[in-house]
Amino acid sequence: MTEADNPAVGSRSAGRNGRAQPDHGAAPAHTPSFHEMWRDLLPIGRDAASGGYRRFAWTGADADCRAWFRAQAESRGLTYELDRNGNQWAWLGDPTAGDAVVTGSHLDSVPDGGAFDGPLGVVSSFAALDGLRARGARPTRPLAIVNFGDEEGARFGLACVGSRLAAGQLTPDKAARLRDADGVSLPQAMERAGYDPEAIGADPERLARIGAFVELHVEQGRALADTPQAVGIASSIWPHGRWRFDFHGEANHAGTTRLQDRRDPMLTYATTVLAARKKARLTGALATFGKVAVEPNGVNAIPSLVRGWLDSRAPDQTTLDLVIAEIEKAAVERGERDGVDVRVTRESFTPVVEFGHALRDELGRLLGGDVPVLGTGAGHDAGILSGDVPTAMLFVRNPTGVSHSPAETAAEDDCLAGVIALTDVLEGLACR
Ligand SMILES: [Zn+2]
Repeated sequence: MTEADNPAVGSRSAGRNGRAQPDHGAAPAHTPSFHEMWRDLLPIGRDAASGGYRRFAWTGADADCRAWFRAQAESRGLTYELDRNGNQWAWLGDPTAGDAVVTGSHLDSVPDGGAFDGPLGVVSSFAALDGLRARGARPTRPLAIVNFGDEEGARFGLACVGSRLAAGQLTPDKAARLRDADGVSLPQAMERAGYDPEAIGADPERLARIGAFVELHVEQGRALADTPQAVGIASSIWPHGRWRFDFHGEANHAGTTRLQDRRDPMLTYATTVLAARKKARLTGALATFGKVAVEPNGVNAIPSLVRGWLDSRAPDQTTLDLVIAEIEKAAVERGERDGVDVRVTRESFTPVVEFGHALRDELGRLLGGDVPVLGTGAGHDAGILSGDVPTAMLFVRNPTGVSHSPAETAAEDDCLAGVIALTDVLEGLACR
C-alpha cells in the first residue's frame, strides 16, 4: 500500500477542503461492467494449486484488492476515503451530510475460499451504482460503497475486525494483542502495509452518518436453490463464536513409550471432535473443528500439545451455550482418562442478530413483495453494524450451497439479478 492511500489525503474527486463536492451527475464515459470488474478481480490472491483464494488481511493480495477498489471508485469519479480502521469507502454525494445509504461487503477471504464470498457484494455495489446512473435516478441522500477490512479473520483469528473496531466492539488494546500464525501482531501487519495502527478505534461519528446499510452476499446455504427466486432477504444471523481448546499432554518417543505410560493429547482431541459432532446433531447446533496445531508436530513423537479451534453456531443463545458446555464436558472427561489437561478459551463471540423489520420490510416492498426471507449461520459485517445502523442483507442464490471453498459458485444470471435487486433497493432508499 502506498502513501497515497493515507486517510488524510483526499482523492481526486474531493474538493479543496478535502470534503466531497455534491456529485449526483452522470458517470464518466466508460465504467467497467460487472463482467470486467469480475474478470479483473478474479486472479488476485488465487492459489494456482487449489484454485482457492488467500486474500488475508494486510498481505500483498489484500493490497491488490484494495488498489482495485480504489481504482473502481476513482474511475467513477467517486470520493475515495480510507477510514481510521482501514475500511475503504467510495462516496457519491457528500460523505458528511448524514442519512447516507451505504452498500458493500468485503474483499478478503478464508484460506482457499471461493470467488464470491465478499467480492460479489462489492462488485454488485459498483454495478448497481452504475445502474442507478444509467436509469437517470438522482439520489437525494449520499450513497457509499464500502469494503470492510479483515472480515473473515483468517489471519488474526477474529472475524469482522474492520467493522468491530468501527462499532467499538473491539478495543484498540484487544486488537493490538491479535497475532497471526507467525507471531506478527495486527498493528505490525498494518504498519508493514503502510497504515497507521495508532489511528484504530471506535468511529461513532462515521456510523452516525449512515442511515441504512444493505449488504449483498452470496448465499452460504441452499435455501434459495430449490426456489424460482434468485435473490432473498436476510431475517437473522445465528449467534456464533470461536473457542480454542488446548490439550496439554506430554511429548515422548513414539517407538519406546508404552501405551499405558502415554499422556497423548491427540487422543483427547480426536474424541472431542467426535463429541462435538454428536452434541451438535443432538441439539440442532453446528460445531466444527476446522483448524488444529500440534506441538512438536513430529511423525515419531507423541504430541505435547494439541490446539484445536472450534467454530459453533446455533439458532438461539440457549442452544449455543448448551452445546459448548457439552463439548467442553466431553473434552474434560476424556482428558482425565488420558492424563491430559484441557483448557477452553472463548476467542470471539457474536450474539444473535435480528435484522430490523422496518428496513427488511421496505426491501421486500421494493423488490416486489414476494421475496424469500431466510436466516443464516454465517456472520457478516452487516450483523456487527446492526446495533448502530439500520441494516439489511440480500442473498444471491448459490446452487450447491457450498461456500468457504473453491467450489463456491453462483450462476451469472443470478448475479445479474442480484445487481438489479440492489439497484432497485438503492433507488428506492436513496432517490425518493
Ligand atoms: Zn462474506
